[in-house]
Amino acid sequence: MKEFSSLQLSAELLRAIGDVGYDTMTDIQERAIPLALEGGDLIGRSSTGTGKTAAFGIPVVERCVPGVRTQALILCPTRELAMQIAEEIRKFAKYKPGIGIATVYGGQSMETQIRQLRTAAIVIGTPGRVMDHMRRKTLRLDGLKIAVLDEADEMLNMGFYEDMQTILSEAPEERQTLLFSATMSPEIMRLTGEFQKDPKMVAVDQGKKTIGTIEQLYYQVPQSRKIDTLKLLLELYEPKRSLIFCNTKKMVDDLVAALAADGFRCIGLHGDMKQQTRTQVMEEFKSGRIGILIATDVAARGIDAPDVEAVFNYDIPQEFEYYIHRIGRTGRAGKTGRSFTLATNRSQVYKIREIERFTGAPIALRPAPNAREIAQKKQELFLGRVAEAAETKPFEEWRPLLGRLLETGISAEEAALALMGMFAQAEPRRLPVLPKEEPARPEGGASGRRVWVSLDIGRDQRIAPNYIVGAMVDAAGIPAKAIGKIEIYDGHTNVELSRPDAELVMENMQGSRIRGCPVKVTLKGESEGRMRYGQKRRPGSGKPRFARDAREPYTKRRGARRGD
Ligand code: ADP
Ligand code: MG
Repeated sequence: MKEFSSLQLSAELLRAIGDVGYDTMTDIQERAIPLALEGGDLIGRSSTGTGKTAAFGIPVVERCVPGVRTQALILCPTRELAMQIAEEIRKFAKYKPGIGIATVYGGQSMETQIRQLRTAAIVIGTPGRVMDHMRRKTLRLDGLKIAVLDEADEMLNMGFYEDMQTILSEAPEERQTLLFSATMSPEIMRLTGEFQKDPKMVAVDQGKKTIGTIEQLYYQVPQSRKIDTLKLLLELYEPKRSLIFCNTKKMVDDLVAALAADGFRCIGLHGDMKQQTRTQVMEEFKSGRIGILIATDVAARGIDAPDVEAVFNYDIPQEFEYYIHRIGRTGRAGKTGRSFTLATNRSQVYKIREIERFTGAPIALRPAPNAREIAQKKQELFLGRVAEAAETKPFEEWRPLLGRLLETGISAEEAALALMGMFAQAEPRRLPVLPKEEPARPEGGASGRRVWVSLDIGRDQRIAPNYIVGAMVDAAGIPAKAIGKIEIYDGHTNVELSRPDAELVMENMQGSRIRGCPVKVTLKGESEGRMRYGQKRRPGSGKPRFARDAREPYTKRRGARRGD
């Protein structure tokens, strides 16, 4: 590991780097900075959290001359990332007067940005707003010396390809172009062919896509138990800072509400929020005032918050790459971290297996934690703290007060007992209790509110009950024995389920295929009697051709056929 002082850098920059607190370079920095300082094009690939910002930030600051406008343009996919890059580069430029920095992203006043752009040597922005300024002629690239594409893979994912083309076509041909990405896809290679000249490739930790210091765990729980499991994990591990990822903005909002209702200090971040709010949210999280940030992938992209101890995949990421980016938020700069993934059904477990193959690192199955285990752990911790306090005596000044208590005739043991009880009551949170077994589900025909769902396939598609059972078990993760009556008609099939299971089916089975036919699922309403439903609503269609009761032996037959 080399020190920054071994680089051919100006005294001003070395001093600034020292102030930031970096001494030795990360792998990507050690290899990329000298090349970038020479002025040639560069492709840099390394995992998230390996210090790519400084890998381009340091050469950019070093190569800029004071007092000249728009020498470097750094493009990145999100506003948060732009702000973060600006923050770091500002630190590097601390002792180099005349190197102004402008950040341009949507949601912030044009005027402020225009003012900054008048003097800025380094412009950091998202493609959309950069193009806005180019159109208004408040940003000109004809003198550009360096272009940086940070998180190039994500800019492609977000559909910024043409914007990057438009922007770079305005910059001089003989510029230096630095491209950074956590992954190297064929699309990225095409991009470098178009925007770069003889780029040198710097790829570190090739093939190893996740950082070795992250312990990756997953839990298999029913959909309805996800929130409780999350709460228990937060209680059990008590991470100082956690990032929780959801796939939708709505889920972010719902989860914030659910956790806050139970006394967890948490905050949400997604693209529908106003820029000002997003900035505040990041501040709260980075400062440590709020320890839990719940976010969508795009909003959290590239975010670097120190000491994120745990990353939760509340929803399984839609893309493998997202998984790497998500868990890359923890275990940074040599620290250890944990990632927790919740899977609700078999197809999600398959997905985890695929992610494992993709990253080459194991994701271990763990039993869902339970309240008793957590209470025990807390008791151990509590006893340890009491014992430690008794030994080190940090509370000596309380002795006179204890004396007064003992004078009333209470024994020291009784006093200690009372204090322990009072301490336990002061614990603010009540833990959800997860049943050890599968949550109880009303069996077919038994009590509990039953509803009918209707699938738009039937005898015409040669559907038999076992196909329906198999598809529901696979796609929605509900046990076969929880499926009630199945009525197969010519063009549709009705299935009786408990309401929570029906919701699971509605959520997970929409558009999935049974015998090759894409299925549309609709909720038909409450089940009232045995056969009345089909007769009442479809008087013309007569009796169903097939009716099945849950107690018939499908489960066994299916199980035997599938070998599990
Ligand atoms: P990447 O862009 O590769 O995901 P970042 O540039 O965001 O990574 O850096 C990740 C973290 O590592 C940041 O907190 C940064 O301050 C820290 N860091 C970067 N370079 C060094 C270094 N040479 N020494 C110590 N910490 C570093
Ligand atoms: Mg980065």
